[in-house]
Amino acid sequence: TGTLFLVPTPIGNLDDMTVRAIDTLRSVDLIAAEDTRHTGQLLSHFDIETRQISFHEHNTQQRIPELLEKLRAGTNIAQVSDAGMPSISDPGTELVAAATQAGIPVVPLPGPNAGLTALIASGLAPQPFTFYGFLPRKVTEQAATLTNWVHHPTTLIFYEAPHRLGKTLTTMAQVFGDERQAVVARELTKKFEEFNRGTLGELQAVAANPRGEYVILIAPGDGQLPVSAPQATGTVTEQVQAAI
Ligand code: SAM
Repeated sequence: TGTLFLVPTPIGNLDDMTVRAIDTLRSVDLIAAEDTRHTGQLLSHFDIETRQISFHEHNTQQRIPELLEKLRAGTNIAQVSDAGMPSISDPGTELVAAATQAGIPVVPLPGPNAGLTALIASGLAPQPFTFYGFLPRKVTEQAATLTNWVHHPTTLIFYEAPHRLGKTLTTMAQVFGDERQAVVARELTKKFEEFNRGTLGELQAVAANPRGEYVILIAPGDGQLPVSAPQATGTVTEQVQAAI
């Protein structure tokens, strides 16, 4: 059988492509790419001529059997998304699950990721952390989701698109409170990389002229039970888990 390689790609700075990522994309038989035109630019930058096939959220179910068949026949395939690590708020999860179930070797390469890159420079506790990714878009659903995380005793990592940054930061301030410490990281690895650190109240100003890509990090909660939660029994750890 072939091997499924999971290959991270740059989140802005092409120099973040690893030597191994380049070698892998060059040596596999096929690249399953979220956007073949986007990946085509990366491939031509590094003089990689490997054939591509599209693999994105809208053709996942159709593509998985095709890709598994190729893998079973001995084809080595690299899966990439448009940026960063495949599967992290990106396509890939179902393919990996299907491949592992089919007994096909899956080899992950380390590489760029927006959440971890933001986390290590945030100044917030790097562990434990919770990676959430994209929140629901509707304000009511977003607020309801965030409410579950208010007391969660880990740093929280969210992704957000520029045109929703303002609304999301407003909702976060309402749910977590104006005084909660947070960090907004923007355009990581790019020319206009920027970190804004402060309270959620202070950080509302960051959304005045949103441009580029954003990671929002929230300082850990106090691990307390929400006031309205039913009384939990058991150890402190179980109570904290019941609260989060
Ligand atoms: N797979 C990617 C990873 O490993 O980070 C994430 C892909 S997700 C579709 C795209 C989101 O990641 C953006 O909306 C933004 O929140 C975040 N992101 C990606 N690149 C970024 C960058 N250079 N600076 C800040 N955030 C970035």
